[in-house]
Amino acid sequence: MKTIGLLGGMSWESSALYYRLLNESVRERLGGLHSARCVLLSVDFAEIARLQAAGDWARAGELLAADARALQAAGADLVVLCTNTMHVVADAVTAGLDVPLLHIGDSTAEAITAAGLTRIGLLGTRYTMEQPFLVDRLSGAGLEVLVPDDADRELVHRVIYEELVLGVAREESRTAYREVVDRLVARGAQGVVLGCTEIELLIGPDDVDVPTFPTTALHVAAAVRIALAEGGAGAPPTIVR
Ligand code: GLU
Repeated sequence: MKTIGLLGGMSWESSALYYRLLNESVRERLGGLHSARCVLLSVDFAEIARLQAAGDWARAGELLAADARALQAAGADLVVLCTNTMHVVADAVTAGLDVPLLHIGDSTAEAITAAGLTRIGLLGTRYTMEQPFLVDRLSGAGLEVLVPDDADRELVHRVIYEELVLGVAREESRTAYREVVDRLVARGAQGVVLGCTEIELLIGPDDVDVPTFPTTALHVAAAVRIALAEGGAGAPPTIVR
């Protein structure tokens, strides 16, 4: 089994989900006492969030590239950056590594394509919804991406930073997210990418009428396939909230 390097803490609420799903997934496949071989480096999210708000992506890229190299030095055979947003610096992280970075956009696009969909809604932080780094990755895989309007982007972003990264899942926010998804579906979205690694702690397939693409679970599924040298897309692990 390969060693998976998790670059987490963004936020640790979703890193905990990554860790649990990774281990459950390996146990499910190999049985018995098997668990995932992994290394976790978990950052202080306040430092990253401050650089995000300041738009200092270059500095954030330097910090995360150094942390990714530390994971490699600790034995990681592949690196999983446990956040959609910070894939904005994926190139800087990749440049410093000899082992692969498993891009969250690729595992997501693969699942959408396998489901036969072509037009997809995207929920995430403002950075993810408004900058091209994830949208272009999905478009590059042949998908049309719809993002919420400005007011809805504000709402989705605020709930992430004021609630989800703090481990708070409010019923009101779940309802508000459902309504945002409904508006994307009315505009033609055939499914929705839960493009922030905490969103699947708030909503899931039972909350909306279209297929959901939970980026944490899909990222984990892809990492496990590589670690166990399995082929194919396969179903993502189930999330129990
Ligand atoms: N975990 C979130 C994401 O997937 C947001 C926190 C962050 O900015 O990294 O985008």
